[in-house]
Amino acid sequence: MTETAARTAHTWRPERFMVIVAHPDDADFGPAATAARWIAEGSEGWLVCCTSGDAGADDWRTDPLELAATREAEQRVAAGIVGYAGISFLHQPDGALANDLALREQLVREILTFRPDAVLAVDPETLFHSDGGVNHTDHRAAGLAAVDAVYPAARNAMAFPWLARDGLEPWVVRRLYLFWSNHPSAWVDVTSTLERKLEALRAHPSQIRHPEQLEPRIREWGREEGEPIGAEAAEAFRVIVIEEDAEEEAGPTHVTPPGTEGGDPGGG
Ligand SMILES: [Zn+2]
Repeated sequence: MTETAARTAHTWRPERFMVIVAHPDDADFGPAATAARWIAEGSEGWLVCCTSGDAGADDWRTDPLELAATREAEQRVAAGIVGYAGISFLHQPDGALANDLALREQLVREILTFRPDAVLAVDPETLFHSDGGVNHTDHRAAGLAAVDAVYPAARNAMAFPWLARDGLEPWVVRRLYLFWSNHPSAWVDVTSTLERKLEALRAHPSQIRHPEQLEPRIREWGREEGEPIGAEAAEAFRVIVIEEDAEEEAGPTHVTPPGTEGGDPGGG
């Protein structure tokens, strides 16, 4: 109990954010409550699923295209519950997702189209979860692809110059919020939207083998991640600040390290 509230809740909110994940349901097991809270407070969110989860079944006789259609439909319902403005399915192969140039171009196109201030993705450095288990290869690939698309590709006009012909100008994403990280640095209080996360997860019946275990498991995660900030429920992120904004520099909680004052926040 003495460790309770050792840190303060993270309050920065992007006006526009994009969640990039490997599979339908990742975003809902991941940062759904944060997304729901930010959207409730006025942000616009967009969800990108690199695959449609066509390998997510136990029976080898399952038709992968039918499964993909089912899972896309489930994800659309869940996204509506969270409040995303829309979803893109990139139709990459489930179980074989690769951080290659083709995927990077798809993600850069998504970023240049939606122009998010922040991108949320799985921490690609999580090979093993600290509480046990292996992080799925697609999760790592999607996380790494998201990071590489954000920096430097999306901001570099020379990365995919033909995108400019479609009117897609380079775009600077200012922050990465990496979830399922073993190195969290920010905790978003999601006490008010944990129910919405549960509701979104219930929209994925094809993936929930033990529905009765879902709620206690999600509540326990929320409780564990809420402990550092003394909240009933939180979602933890490793936040990478790529570009600081003026508001943050002027903010009361911002501490400027010695020797870095006068930096150009829009530069680089
Ligand atoms: Zn997944």
